[in-house]
Amino acid sequence: MSGCIFCRIVGGDAPATKIFEDDLLVAFLDIRPITRGHTLVIPKSHAADLDELDPALGARLFAFGHRLAKAVRRGELGADGANLVINDGRAAFQTVHHVHLHVVPRWKGDTLTFAKGFVLRRPHDPERTAAAIRAGLDRLADEEEETTA
Ligand code: AMP
Ligand code: ZN
Repeated sequence: MSGCIFCRIVGGDAPATKIFEDDLLVAFLDIRPITRGHTLVIPKSHAADLDELDPALGARLFAFGHRLAKAVRRGELGADGANLVINDGRAAFQTVHHVHLHVVPRWKGDTLTFAKGFVLRRPHDPERTAAAIRAGLDRLADEEEETTA
């Protein structure tokens, strides 16, 4: 959809530090992260909110958010958990009207840094952070392969 910043990212017309892409989804770092590794997962096709989103695509969106939540626990990021959030509609503080799932890595005892990050929203070495998450996804895939072998 013209004028939608996330559609422009999907089309390669706006910059983003991408983590993952397939035929239906793109995941990229939030430009104003709350914590290091704060990632957004979006459907490639424009849907303004959950009312417009195909449920099967919503399930795919969550499935990849689930993988990301596991990936950030692995490797350099070493998170202890994550907040997965969809702000659906203006009433819920949605500001970009193309559905997106926030995956916000969390660490034990990070309440103060989380609160600071919520106010400052400064990027943390995006290329290195993206590489760490991709490495976490690779590690997850290796683990899955080992358990099915
Ligand atoms: P919300 O709509 O409130 O759920 O959040 C929108 C999120 O999109 C915010 O966390 C923004 O920092 C993020 N955002 C807005 N524009 C961009 C962009 N061009 N690239 C990456 N993240 C963005
Ligand atoms: Zn869009």
